[in-house]
Amino acid sequence: MSRPDTRLVQPPRIPGEPARATSTPLYQTATFAQDLEGGRNPWDYSRSGNPTRDVLEEQLAALDGAERALAYGSGIAAVSAALRLAGPGDEVIVGDDLYGGTVRLLRDYERHLGLGVRRVDVRDPLRVRDALGPRTRLVFVETPTNPRLRVVDVAGLADVLQEHPAQLVVDNSMLSPLRQRPLELGADIALQSATKLLGGHGDLTAGVIAVSDGAVAERLAFLRNAEGSALAPFEAWLLLRGMSTLSVRLERQERNAAALADWLETRPEVTRVHRVPAGTGGVVVSFETGSVARSREIIRRARLFRTTVSFGGVTSSIGLPCAMSHASVSEAERATSGLAEDLVRISTGLEDARDLLADLERAFLESSRKEETADCLA
Ligand SMILES: *Cc1c(COP(=O)(O)O)cnc(C)c1O
Repeated sequence: MSRPDTRLVQPPRIPGEPARATSTPLYQTATFAQDLEGGRNPWDYSRSGNPTRDVLEEQLAALDGAERALAYGSGIAAVSAALRLAGPGDEVIVGDDLYGGTVRLLRDYERHLGLGVRRVDVRDPLRVRDALGPRTRLVFVETPTNPRLRVVDVAGLADVLQEHPAQLVVDNSMLSPLRQRPLELGADIALQSATKLLGGHGDLTAGVIAVSDGAVAERLAFLRNAEGSALAPFEAWLLLRGMSTLSVRLERQERNAAALADWLETRPEVTRVHRVPAGTGGVVVSFETGSVARSREIIRRARLFRTTVSFGGVTSSIGLPCAMSHASVSEAERATSGLAEDLVRISTGLEDARDLLADLERAFLESSRKEETADCLA
């Protein structure tokens, strides 16, 4: 089979597609005609199956080295589908540094679905081993974590789980399968928000689950059809288009992220820089300033960086996770996970790095001037 970069721009054909289109056609239709006399149409209803989404899912499965991939209407729908593999009375062990929406969902499933949730520092596989019990159904981790970019040892966790029936779920939103393939590291389920890097243009929401086990895939596919959470055809088509440039986007955006992190490390205003280990990839960098007011001021004054949640798009963005993407994480939960209130998260886009650095330098300068003024008046 072709390598990923080749495969991304040469998706498989839709079987029987008569016009031999070079780009995947969009089947914007809810229904497909049935043939009552012999010859079955493999497609009948887009909630259950759609040719455009099928091509997308073949691409996603190939990228992750999976038996099957399923596309959902959002990343959190994919997270939810994975968590629902556990039922009332079951336990899930989860990382203590997770996406805010995942934390919110876990809290709700704990209260209303009777799911046992154990939060553990999953960077240490031995702690996970100690937390395992007879009712543990899933171990759910993110790596690197968002926004603090802590790295979890997926292979180490897979080792610990070898003798236990619990399934290892990895949220791979921060890196994408071009940089990290959790299934190859021993995870049972790899999922991600395709809203971020895979889509890459900030114009869609989507989520993906990739699995290596056929029975798990069938269970997920059954539930997705029964609940109607599959990705719509137009979004599937947009996502395919976004994915065709994933590899080149990543290269440029990662270079920009590294340049920015290097620069941040030289700044006296910055008390701490969070970045992934060299060679890991990823387009997110975060830093602390020791002052929520200063962090807010820097964000306000940055012009090329839009103040938005989300990351991974072609346009650079900046935000204060504590007040934005992680606002649903309670103060107590933030305290356990150690998410600093002054932490600023940056996602680098495709802009020229020199423009990004100049913009941030100006924002830093203006924010410190403002502090001087404030002191003087006080
Ligand atoms: C954004 C994100 C999600 C949720 O994805 P949506 O597409 O926004 O629903 C889940 N996990 C992580 C790590 C994310 O960054």
